[in-house]
Amino acid sequence: MTKSQYFSKSIINRLKTFAIIALVCSCFLQQALAQKNEMVELKNMIPTIQYDLKYATKNNFTGKRIYPSSTNKTFLVKDAAEALQKVAAELKSMDMGIWVWDAYRPYRATVKFWKLIHDERYVANPEKGSGHNRGIAIDMSIYRLSDGKLIEMPTGFDNFSDTAHHDFMQLPENKIKNRALLKTMMERHGFRSFETEWWHYSWPNNKNYEVLNLSFEKLAKKQ
Ligand SMILES: [Zn+2]
Repeated sequence: MTKSQYFSKSIINRLKTFAIIALVCSCFLQQALAQKNEMVELKNMIPTIQYDLKYATKNNFTGKRIYPSSTNKTFLVKDAAEALQKVAAELKSMDMGIWVWDAYRPYRATVKFWKLIHDERYVANPEKGSGHNRGIAIDMSIYRLSDGKLIEMPTGFDNFSDTAHHDFMQLPENKIKNRALLKTMMERHGFRSFETEWWHYSWPNNKNYEVLNLSFEKLAKKQ
């Protein structure tokens, strides 16, 4: 073997080793990402949770049904669902429970919203993908376990006026107190509030979670 043959063989061997290491690393990364993106059905984890999935009906701000009408499950990534479980436990000790309007939203639904509304003030631009598409955002309120009724909040769901902003203060005292209760509970367990929608909370580090386009049915089968 000539000197140059020896060197090129040694470079090829090094490249091979490097390729194997890169492959192993990417496998671990993919596995870690898959674990991060594991979606959990909320009622499975939180028996007191109430679903009122507005987008499976026409009773939402678009006036159109966005999800299949049979949709009766909703999901969040495991990290967020576990944090929500702690919120629910705290609320339960106060005779209250979590009320959900929406959580995970398949990407195709965001595209549908965009076609219908096409205004970034009200719906997410599909180019970016939303927290809901990543299974890290939830639209929610609080209800009383004793009578199943929602506690009074500043507005209903998907109200796009200033009254829905967290800093809107021209409200009766009980509505300010209830809005603050939800915010305190959610933030204590790691969620972030959204300035213009008192009902929207998200789990941080959205870049760690993939935008998904899996149907509710498919996700349900994975549980
Ligand atoms: Zn939302």
